[in-house]
Amino acid sequence: MTAQHERVVIIGSGPAAWTAAIYAARADLSPLVVEGAGSRTMIPGGQLMFTTEVENYPGFPKGVTGPEMMDAFRAQAVRFDTRVITDDIVEVELVGQPKRLVTGRGEELLTDSVIVATGANARWLGVPNEERLAQSGGGVSACAVCDGALPWFRGQVVAVVGGGDSAIEDATYMAKFAGRVLVIHRRDQLRASAIMQQRAFDNEKIEFLWNKVVTEVVGDDVITGLRLRDTVTGEESTLEAGGMFVAIGHTPNTGFLSGQVALKPNGYIELPTPWRTDTSVPGVFAAGDVMDDHYRQAVSAAGTGCMAALDAERWLAHGGPAENGAS
Ligand code: NAP
Repeated sequence: MTAQHERVVIIGSGPAAWTAAIYAARADLSPLVVEGAGSRTMIPGGQLMFTTEVENYPGFPKGVTGPEMMDAFRAQAVRFDTRVITDDIVEVELVGQPKRLVTGRGEELLTDSVIVATGANARWLGVPNEERLAQSGGGVSACAVCDGALPWFRGQVVAVVGGGDSAIEDATYMAKFAGRVLVIHRRDQLRASAIMQQRAFDNEKIEFLWNKVVTEVVGDDVITGLRLRDTVTGEESTLEAGGMFVAIGHTPNTGFLSGQVALKPNGYIELPTPWRTDTSVPGVFAAGDVMDDHYRQAVSAAGTGCMAALDAERWLAHGGPAENGAS
């Protein structure tokens, strides 16, 4: 059977992907979204599926849960004639025309253009109870800006794990709400920039636990503490804590591109032209956290999803595929 030839395929299912789909659908491009098959650490809907209350997305004055928000984004895209495949893309041929994509079930897709919006996964420690309490909203999170202002954390002892800029930024942010913030770092020196370090050292609510790793999160419905191991002495200890923010970096989901799209040295997709979502490959556009190592917010991801759909639409309308070798 010959594969249907699409105008645009959008890979991903977070705010960038669904916003791109809404714009592409309303431009009569009948987009196909490949939303991901889901795995232990990532489910269709992206990182917001691991967030409880979203309170900083404009238009939701009472807040909204991450999963509810992604359901609404998806429903809006589907309402405007977006088709959805619940699978991963596992193989790509992106250079030239048409572009060829293969799903995990072996289905072949041919398309004039592709929008990559596969996001980035926050890295987790991989210790017992961490994932369960993150998914249930039990006080474990990888995004202080998303979850830190929730009433639950006010006045609590909160742990922040990591020693980079994100950890120090999160610790400083959490010091506004928490009673005490404990930064748990596996070495005795921070990786964060000097100015951010100094700001944290000057903040009397922030304390540092050096040479410590978390070996277990303690708690049934909500976190009540952490088990720690000293990386120098090997000594084990237990700490009471009412929250844990993991800030040990993100990994952009670019592996399936198998080197066909240029990446920045840190692994995020490179966008050669400022304020455009074109990648190094004509007809391939990128939106959201897979290319954004700086803002990483749902609202900025949605904004770049809109940009990618408009860029793809213009590229298609101005003969992009023909110029790129389509017969
Ligand atoms: P990062 O710089 O890679 O730092 C990750 C931190 O987590 C490191 O301190 C690392 O320890 C620790 N870590 C990694 N894996 C761990 C594990 N399994 N267990 C315990 N600790 C672990 O990541 P980031 O802080 O997210 O920053 C990413 C980039 O964004 C950086 O370029 C950063 O400068 C930038 N950024 C900038 C700002 C800002 O300027 N406002 C804010 C946030 C991020 P080691 O140090 O021992 O490797």
